[in-house]
Amino acid sequence: MSSDNPKKILNQPLGGNDMPRFGGPATMMRLPAQETAQGLDVAFIGVPFDLGTSNRPGARLAPRQIRDESRMLRPYNMATRAAPFDSLQIADIGDVPINPFNMMQSIDIIEKFYDDVLANDCVPMTLGGDHTIALPILRALAKKHGPVGMIHVDAHADINDHMFGEKIAHGTPFRRAVEEGLLDPQRVVQIGLRGTGYEAEDFDWPREQGFRVVPAEECWHKSLTPLMEEVREKIGGGPVYISFDIDGIDPAYAPGTGTVEIAGLTVPQALEVIRGAKGLDVVGGDIVEISPAYDTTGNTALLGANLLYEMLCVLPGVKYRS
Ligand code: MN
Ligand code: MN
Repeated sequence: MSSDNPKKILNQPLGGNDMPRFGGPATMMRLPAQETAQGLDVAFIGVPFDLGTSNRPGARLAPRQIRDESRMLRPYNMATRAAPFDSLQIADIGDVPINPFNMMQSIDIIEKFYDDVLANDCVPMTLGGDHTIALPILRALAKKHGPVGMIHVDAHADINDHMFGEKIAHGTPFRRAVEEGLLDPQRVVQIGLRGTGYEAEDFDWPREQGFRVVPAEECWHKSLTPLMEEVREKIGGGPVYISFDIDGIDPAYAPGTGTVEIAGLTVPQALEVIRGAKGLDVVGGDIVEISPAYDTTGNTALLGANLLYEMLCVLPGVKYRS
């Protein structure tokens, strides 16, 4: 998928010495905006949707906030030497026009939008939105790739059968995805789960499906690089989606979210997880559940922007400087 033709001019983030970082259009990483995914290897997409939220709302406002906080991101990854803009054509294609008065219709609108993106052989990188949006995204991905593996970082398993009797909500997407055959359960890893449950068996259902469940306690006080070796072993060899709920991170680092749980992952651990996905066939990724109203410093959205950039850096076809 990489654009290897050296004569082709690839999009670059608008430099901080060409326009002040606080000026210019607020696109993801100050990339050019375009209306469709045509000609792109990767598209950043906003999904301003929080109709599936159970507690504090506000994730509908996150795509704009993530774009704004992405203004400091420069093209080159100084730690890994990834240079995604050397080989891939990338742009921000704006937001999915959801209907804020109709959740079920919005789910269909999101799926169709991603169908169009995938028809262009373009990898979608999503600025959510609450976690409900992973379901229509996975529906579109599975039509193209078949059942996908998944690296899912979250405080919550999001495998409830229903919420208030509703089958589609931000706590149910991965139960539906398993039922609909969108995920390959033997190639799914959930990292950072913790907190209190509706039932004592809440984390048993994903294990019974074949998921590898890594509770937060298993992550405390240590590097997650060895875990990611195990993850690559389990899910390597086929298409993989990365779904990153910001509440997987400890609220000390990421307070701007709706469903807060104590004692989560650290930011370095989050980087180890995403960097540990290098070499896998990553076919898309999202950052979800950022709620700007509770993000008084902007640091939660800043973290989300950086995590999306790190996902970009591990996509197939990214060049690494020597
Ligand atoms: Mn979630
Ligand atoms: Mn969560």
